Amino acid sequence: MIFVSDFYKKIFSQKVYKIALDAGCTCPNRDGTLGRGGCIFCSQNGSGDFIPGRNLAIEEQIEKAKALVESKFSRAAARGEKVSKKFIVYFQNFTNTYAGADGDEGRLFALFEKAVSAPDVVGIAIGTRPDCLSEGMLAFLGELSERTFVQIELGLQTANEKTADYCRRGFKNEVYTNAVDRLHKAAENAGGRIHVVTHVIFGLPGDGTDDMMETVKLAVAGGTDGIKITVLYVVEGTDLAKEYRAGKFKALEKEEYYDLLRKALPLLPKDMVVHRLTGDPPKRILIAPEWTADKKRVMNEIRGISGLM
Ligand code: SF4
Repeated sequence: MIFVSDFYKKIFSQKVYKIALDAGCTCPNRDGTLGRGGCIFCSQNGSGDFIPGRNLAIEEQIEKAKALVESKFSRAAARGEKVSKKFIVYFQNFTNTYAGADGDEGRLFALFEKAVSAPDVVGIAIGTRPDCLSEGMLAFLGELSERTFVQIELGLQTANEKTADYCRRGFKNEVYTNAVDRLHKAAENAGGRIHVVTHVIFGLPGDGTDDMMETVKLAVAGGTDGIKITVLYVVEGTDLAKEYRAGKFKALEKEEYYDLLRKALPLLPKDMVVHRLTGDPPKRILIAPEWTADKKRVMNEIRGISGLM
């Protein structure tokens, strides 16, 4: 396993900062194409609750997002570290390769081009669904990866298709594994390379330990380059919150989650990039598990388990 900060340092020869932006997308699971309610755990903001300015022009969003990380530069400078500002623009919330019901991908292509051309931007990370990668989008991303660093994040969440149906994920596992392959091939055809990251959630209702380990194994076998594992958060405004309040399932205890990580980490190959082993729940809407609100402590404890972060 390689931790993401080391992975980026190897590529860019310095520390880089991810800045979260909003592409103004929605999701087929919300706009009626596949469904209206979204995945059962997804917050109203499309699981991106720290992004300023959905209605701002992309240039303005970039400036605002850069300003938000300025404090990190001053702290690094105060520690005597050499600070040189480099950013990966990160389209995190909703489905960022989904052009909407009218299918106008040109708007997204132009937006991504603008974002990667901004000063000090060295790459792009795009969160999406595996069933929202048209041939045109793949060709665009493949070609882009020949010019800059491209990271595509796919939400798998679980390999248990019953759990996936309960969560209203809306695609089969096979669509996910095909997407990883199609992304890699699209980049290869253009002479580039796409870094594929898979999102996995531990603690979904209906998933046992074996299911969670199978999920990690599926991601590894599918050829993902990186992985993000998070504990399931219950947040306000979701159908999951209603299920939780009705006592239909329990959130994972801290030690239960740590035990799952201890089992999962040995399944990861040596060159797998670990992007995250804990989430960053928005405290103001977090219902459970409460222990995740103490982010610093959780990060320290996970560092002890994994030797990473
Ligand atoms: S696919 Fe992503 S954005 Fe869409 S509803 Fe599910 S979690 Fe939310």
